[in-house]
Amino acid sequence: VKNGAVLVGGGKILWAGPMEETPPHPDDIDHIDAAGHLVTPGLLDPHTHLAWAGSREKEFYLRAAGAGYMEIHNAGGGINSTSHAVRDASQNELTSLMEMRLEKMAFQGTTAVEIKSGYGLSLEEELKQLRAAKAISSPAGIKTARTFLGAHSFPAEFKENRAGYVDLLCDEMLPAVAKEGLATACDVFIEEGVFDIAQARRVLEKAALLGLKLRVHADEVHDMGASALAAELGALSAEHLIETPDASIDLLAKAGTIAVLLPGTCFCLKKKYARGREFVERGVPVALATDVNPGSCTCDNLAFILTLACLHYGFSAAEALTAVTVNAAAAMEMSEHCGRLEPGMDADLVIWDAEKLEQLPYWFGSNRALLVVRSTGDEVEILDNQAGDN
Ligand SMILES: [Zn+2]
Repeated sequence: VKNGAVLVGGGKILWAGPMEETPPHPDDIDHIDAAGHLVTPGLLDPHTHLAWAGSREKEFYLRAAGAGYMEIHNAGGGINSTSHAVRDASQNELTSLMEMRLEKMAFQGTTAVEIKSGYGLSLEEELKQLRAAKAISSPAGIKTARTFLGAHSFPAEFKENRAGYVDLLCDEMLPAVAKEGLATACDVFIEEGVFDIAQARRVLEKAALLGLKLRVHADEVHDMGASALAAELGALSAEHLIETPDASIDLLAKAGTIAVLLPGTCFCLKKKYARGREFVERGVPVALATDVNPGSCTCDNLAFILTLACLHYGFSAAEALTAVTVNAAAAMEMSEHCGRLEPGMDADLVIWDAEKLEQLPYWFGSNRALLVVRSTGDEVEILDNQAGDN
């Protein structure tokens, strides 16, 4: 919409459309003049590992020097090193770390974030991560969706007894997560050396029985049939999808499973990119996310992910924006209240330092969000990057 206007009240969008069609409204309402600026819905980030503690910059330089996954693992890096740091952190510490990270993301235009567990890798520690995420104070304004990812890695104590850890996931962890309402979805990392198809199927089928939606870390390094399994089980989403064969792309399209693509991880790992264009062309709904985590992707700026999707998938600016708004909302089951500038939606919107949509992915490396308006329930809060406060 050129020369558009948005009317907001009670934390909701009341009306959006061309300025000259603005419906009658009281004169004394607050105005924000966005003349000459692109306005979009708040960006939605449907895949993050935000509940981490510690830092792994050492791996960044090892990778830069050409080290592979196993070398990094042997140098004490990888998921299990973050797992130690998470086990050392208290629940309150994890909550404040996440609140700090979310606030930084909010100032960059992100208004909803999915958060996965998966660094606890034991009953108590996984519950601690999810409870920490649940405790994020809602006045912070940003919306979150929680996913149980106990099947992220095998903890050291189950190295020789993998079936035992799958039993623990199915018999104790999942029922506890469901009972306490700690997550709305369950995710499994299917990959060589991590969870195989049979183990993943057990975990996912149990999760579905408990009423959780299914997500899968699929086809990141090897095609093990993970995205085909996601489609077969009617998963909400399949994520990464770098090695997905054509046949599985068609299965995802048929199942309506959302492809969550994570080009920031490929950038950070210096790996090849998913065939993003192919997913769009074969009718798979595509969402984009940061995958922000302390190891494989240290990017919390979703706008930069748009740049990567345009450069490496050949997405148009509109396709990229759709992937972090409408489709990302679907991937987080938030379609009813966010992802679009329409009456009834939460009043989450961003005024950008850009004149039009095409200028958003075109610039990268700096924060182009000028002003973020976000709903805090029945009011709105304004984050002003120029004023440096809210
Ligand atoms: Zn991930």
